[in-house]
Amino acid sequence: MKILLPTSTAGSLPKPSWLAEPEVLWSPWKLSGDALVDGKHDALKVSLHEQQQAGVDIVSDGEQTRQHFVTTFIEHLDGVDFENRKNVRIRNRYDASVPTVVGPVARKAPVFVEDAKFLRAQTDKPIKWALPGPMTMIDTLYDDHYKSREKLAWEFAKILNQEAKELEAAGVNIIQFDEPAFNVFFDEVNDWGIACLERAIEGLKCETAVHICYGYGIKANTDWKKTLGSEWRQYEEVFPKLQQSNIDIISLECHNSRVPIELLALIRGKKVMVGAIDVATDDIETPEEVANTLREALKYVDADKLYPSTNCGLAPLSRDVARAKLNALAQGAAIVRAELNA
Ligand SMILES: [Zn+2]
Repeated sequence: MKILLPTSTAGSLPKPSWLAEPEVLWSPWKLSGDALVDGKHDALKVSLHEQQQAGVDIVSDGEQTRQHFVTTFIEHLDGVDFENRKNVRIRNRYDASVPTVVGPVARKAPVFVEDAKFLRAQTDKPIKWALPGPMTMIDTLYDDHYKSREKLAWEFAKILNQEAKELEAAGVNIIQFDEPAFNVFFDEVNDWGIACLERAIEGLKCETAVHICYGYGIKANTDWKKTLGSEWRQYEEVFPKLQQSNIDIISLECHNSRVPIELLALIRGKKVMVGAIDVATDDIETPEEVANTLREALKYVDADKLYPSTNCGLAPLSRDVARAKLNALAQGAAIVRAELNA
């Protein structure tokens, strides 16, 4: 990356209202058949355009072709029965009706590779592509086949590696794995979660990232955050081992969160995507607020390793709010970039 402080988003962006109901997760598609295929492509173009208009440097598909960051990937796999549903507790936080693993899991065909080629053809900017991480995937399923969280995560890691290699060949520059589960299951993260992630990136030459956040601004998450006390030290449990891992970039929630910023010292040497935009409020950050978060992070992250970003995906927000937040991100990064170049 040539420019200093390249901006990006954590992943999802709001969808146009003609494609899916806005401000809702798991929103059903409003189109079907060929119209849906075209509609997803058009939405991807609009999302890319809005990122570029705002001055986002590392662009993405805005997850316009997926209903949900985990479910949509799993829907494309063999071995998971979406009709056969069980109630499980997601990330120890809320109950959900989830599909069942009924046999060996396998990727019957590429999932996002055609979408990535489509995005690549639209822009010369670096592209980041988000995939769910193995631990977060197993946490949204009922496993009636492997009967071992670790074994199932390992199988998903192999599948993710196949997909990641094809995304890399399609021209994706950064492949990101979303692992909000890393903020919850610390023992498993250290025992096998990070090892599974390293299996998922095996043999990749492009850059790799892991996104660990406190979730979308939905009620289950904001209620959970209220129980975490005045200092959120979850990152402290997993940073030492992540610092030793082969993952290039760590994407984190920083702005408005109670994460003590000095925890970033534990991942010194890694590139850090610093969340400088709160996704749990419609209040628009000022560029100066963004700049302040970045200046704080610069105490622990070298300038050439700092990537200003959002705390999490912006999908549940209105398009106006999301656009304004992206503008603030780019303007805040520009302030600090100018200071560093002075
Ligand atoms: Zn997130």
